Amino acid sequence: MSRVLVVEDEAAIAELIAINLRHAGHTVTLAVDAEQAQAAVDDVLPDLVLLDWMLPGQSGLALAKRWRAQARTRELPVIMLTARVEESDKIAGLDAGADDYLTKPFSTNELMARIRAVLRRKAPESLDTVVSVGMLQLDPSTRRVAGQGVDVKLGPTEFRLLHFLMTHPERVHSRAQLLDRVWGDHVFIEERTVDVHVKRLREALGPAHCAQMIETVRGAGYRLTQQVQAVAG
Ligand code: CA
Repeated sequence: MSRVLVVEDEAAIAELIAINLRHAGHTVTLAVDAEQAQAAVDDVLPDLVLLDWMLPGQSGLALAKRWRAQARTRELPVIMLTARVEESDKIAGLDAGADDYLTKPFSTNELMARIRAVLRRKAPESLDTVVSVGMLQLDPSTRRVAGQGVDVKLGPTEFRLLHFLMTHPERVHSRAQLLDRVWGDHVFIEERTVDVHVKRLREALGPAHCAQMIETVRGAGYRLTQQVQAVAG
């Protein structure tokens, strides 16, 4: 479900990581240096980056620092990979903004566990975990949604929208943020499109009596909440 960018100049290691990631259901993009990595990030913002420290040319550390300094990539989840074992290096990696740090050689099981942990924390909508909010339940692996036990039929866009809202409940998301996170950040569509799909989502949730969970926050955007206000009629 999630898009992972692997930045690693050693082909054998990159391939091993890619095989394991694909086996776990992730979409993998490979880059061999900072320049390729930046081009890949400019193209499509990944859900997570595995970033080797020692790269030909600009180091992974410098690249992580650059990403943290830019608004578009500030929140990008990054796990640094390195052969370095010195504690000062780990500290430098974490100071550069890495979310986690893995020293080579590492077991693929440990790598996968750390990827899951970082994604749970920073991009829960990219995981296949069943999500429950109030009376609503969504299963990404079977793509089934139920509200109070009633099956909810959703189109693919409404499904992704609901998945994102359910993994980030009680928070207000602007239309621009929803376009970035649900539609993909390089898709140029009007913000009004979001309103159209929210309307469809509410209609689909109607039979399960969950439509009111999707709140319009005037001048700000949308929010999914379990604190539904009683509505007369
Ligand atoms: Ca390397």
